[in-house]
Parts: sequence; structure tokens; C-alpha cells
Amino acid sequence: MRKTKVICTLGPATEGIIEQLMKNGMDAARFNFSHETHKIHQKRINEAKLAREKLNIPIPFIIDTKGPEMRIGQMSKKVNLIKGNKFILLNKEEMGNEKQATISNKNLFKCVTPGKEIFIDDGKIRLEVVNVENKDIYCIITSGGMVSSRKGVNVHDCDTGLPFITDRDISDIEFALENDFDFIALSFVRNASDIYQVRNILKKKYKEDVKIISKIENEEAVKNIDEIIDASDSIMIARGDLGIELPISQVPVIQKKLIKKCYSSAKPVIVATQMLESMSDNPLPTRAEVSDVANAIYDGTSVVMLSGETAAGDFPTESLQMMVQVINDTEKDINYKTRFNLNNFENVEKNVLNIISKSSVVAAFEIDAKAIVVPTRTGNSARMLSSFRPSSPIIAITVKPKIQRQLNMSWGIRPMLSKFIGEQKKLYENTMVLAEESKLVKKEDIVVLTGGIPTGSAGKTNMLKLHRIGDKVINE
Ligand code: PGA
Ligand code: MN
Repeated sequence: MRKTKVICTLGPATEGIIEQLMKNGMDAARFNFSHETHKIHQKRINEAKLAREKLNIPIPFIIDTKGPEMRIGQMSKKVNLIKGNKFILLNKEEMGNEKQATISNKNLFKCVTPGKEIFIDDGKIRLEVVNVENKDIYCIITSGGMVSSRKGVNVHDCDTGLPFITDRDISDIEFALENDFDFIALSFVRNASDIYQVRNILKKKYKEDVKIISKIENEEAVKNIDEIIDASDSIMIARGDLGIELPISQVPVIQKKLIKKCYSSAKPVIVATQMLESMSDNPLPTRAEVSDVANAIYDGTSVVMLSGETAAGDFPTESLQMMVQVINDTEKDINYKTRFNLNNFENVEKNVLNIISKSSVVAAFEIDAKAIVVPTRTGNSARMLSSFRPSSPIIAITVKPKIQRQLNMSWGIRPMLSKFIGEQKKLYENTMVLAEESKLVKKEDIVVLTGGIPTGSAGKTNMLKLHRIGDKVINE
């Protein structure tokens, strides 16, 4: 079973092929709310919901918020900005051309001074501020190129005083909650209190079961990474903006550090952006891209993400197939036991759940178990097992569809839905029936079974059994 999971961003290029993407290995669907209207997203959501029901695959939905990002406005056409020419970032709405464009952040003029650099379109275009007049920012083009409408704008160290969650984000989040989304990916998180703000919104709507992914995409987030990981359910290494907000040469260093930190906090970590970028226009990736994907997997990332490659590229299905192929080939080369021993996990807190989870993984290595089976109410015990990166697949049995979908994005987990909540003996019998239904195990196979005895409450994992499929789990 493939262990590293794949997020596909849905967009104009995935229209009519979402079912095909699910069949080809997409594990989670990302909807990017930086672009397009609720009406268009609704159509896409409906197509994805139908497909996952038809195929009976628990694909979670992720809303990616627009957040406090900046963009230029509409351009009359794609224009060529020439190095050395003047360019104005206008405060009021006007059509853009080779001399000017509107800036979406009406406070930007407050934090720029002469000499400050402004980056457009992932840093491809650079401007240097000359002066500010009537809230308009006059610049010189220091690095030119083609620019079209609504390209992203970045400026370092610039707190324009805009709130972290905008009214637009709130309305987008509400829309996602109405559509039963499973994750919220928060753009440009700066600290833990940004995350608590969103948790409060979820609490007021009785949707605390929706998980939060913090996107790490600027210097402040990197600085506050420990409190951010602590307050989040998952982390996305958003290399696109990160590579503009910080020197691009630091991106791999940060990526490796963050994967390690998330790994040891039992939180899924996503490596995102430009993983197979050249496949937006080509049927094959570059060697460097393939190497990038493989290295993220060697480092132990939980998830890799496709962005423009699937959302707007010419080869969405091919990009996904390539991603899956690289994961499969790389995973075959990993010795999980050696990696586990090297990591030693000495920093993991010594509580009952963690000790049982770690011991389950050790037992699975020793006996070469066909699977680790865990009934899980909240998903936590399954995620804990996943964080130790066992070589055996983790079959997680849960009664809530939302938790099943969320677990589908965790490394090495195959989540199965149980309709059964009840007394101990039946619960474990039912667990084993579902384990067999997963087709990952069959009669006589040895599995590691872990869970809570007596059953009944969440967070009570205390049992580890080496179990032969077909035998009785317990007597009464
Ligand atoms: P975005 O986030 O695609 O929403 O900008 C990812 C990134 O910045 O890498
Ligand atoms: Mn971003």
C-alpha cells in the first residue's frame, strides 16, 4: 500500500475528470479560494461529492483561504514590463497596463519607503520603490517580464495592519462548512493566536471537528513554528510564498526542519508547490522535480501536493500518475525499520497512548505484521501510530465519516468506516471484519491489534495484541 498521500488542487482543468483523478490515486481535494466564485466552487464540490460517493473513497475536502494576500488588479492585456522603466502601483481601481496596476492592499503605501523591493508573480518581476504620492506607489522596474491580471504581490517585513481573517475569508469558511469540508488550510498564518481566532469561529458554529492546516509561508511563521504546530492539526510547507518571503536558498533547509518537527509531534505535514511544475505544460517532469518529490518522501513527509499542475495545467491526470509512480518507486527503497531506529523518538512524551503506539510499531517490525489494526474514535491513536512511520499499513476503524476522511490524509493509514458502536466483543469482531474487507489482510495473517479495553471512551488506548486473523479477539 502506498503510504505517502497526494493532495490534488481542483480547478478549471479538472472539470469532468475528478472521478478519474480519484481512481488514479488522489487522496484529498484542495479548493483554492484565492480564485473564483462560490458558484464555480459549488459546481466543483458537487462533482467531487458525486465521484467520491460513487467510488466509495473517503476523499477529504480542504478549503484553502485567500488570507491577507496581496494581488495586482485587472490588466487590459498581458504586458511586458521592461527593466529600468517606471511603474505605479495605484491605490484606486483602474485598468492596468505597462505603466501601472492597482494594488489590492490599500494600506501597502503605509509600509513602503524608497528603496523597498516589491515582488510580483512569485518574485519573477521586481520593483523598487522611488516614492509615495497620494497613496500611489511610484517604482522603477528592476527585473522585468510578462505580467497578466491578478498576479500575487509580496513585500518583506511589511505589517500593513490588515486583520488576519478578512470578511471574505469568513464568508468562504462559512460556505465550506455548509458543504461539510474536513480541513481549513489557513494562508499566511503568523502565530498561534491567528489559529485560535479560527478555532473560535468553528466553535461558534459547532464545527470543532474541522481540522486546521497552517500554511507556513513567511518569516514570522517560521520564527513561531513551535507554537503554530502546537495550535494546528497539520502544517503545509507553502514553498511558493516562502521562497519569496525568505531567500529561496533557505526553502529546503526549512522544509527538512519542519518535516522533522511535525513528524515528532504526530501531525501530518504537507510539502506543497511546484513539485511537478513543468508538467503544467509538458507531459513529463524534469529530473530535478522528480528528485524533489523523492527527497520529500525520504525525509518522511506525510503528504505531497499538486497545485497548478492539476488545477490549471494541460496534463492533470498525467501529473498525478507521475506523482504516484515516484512515490511508489521511492517508498520501495526505504527501510522503515532502520529509519525508525535512527529516529529513536526519545523526545516523544511518555504517556500510555504514546508508549502503546510505539510498542505496536516495534512489534509490527519484529513480527513483520501484515497490518496494524486500530479502532479509533477521534483518529488520534491512528495518527500516533502513523507518526512512528511503520512499514505495515495502519488500518483505522472509525464510526464517523468525517474522521474517516481526515485520516485518509495521514501517512500510511487506510481508514475504514464502521456502522457499529457497541459492546466490546462485538466492536472488536466488527473491527476484524472491516480489516479483512480492506483486502490488506486475510485469514491466518498476523496483525498488531491496538485499542482501548474496556471500550467506551475516547483517548483510552492501552492494549496491544498480536492477533491471528480468524481467531477470537476476546472471550466476552
Ligand atoms: P498558495 O499557497 O498556492 O495558496 O499561494 C501555497 C504556496 O504559497 O506555496
Ligand atoms: Mn501561498
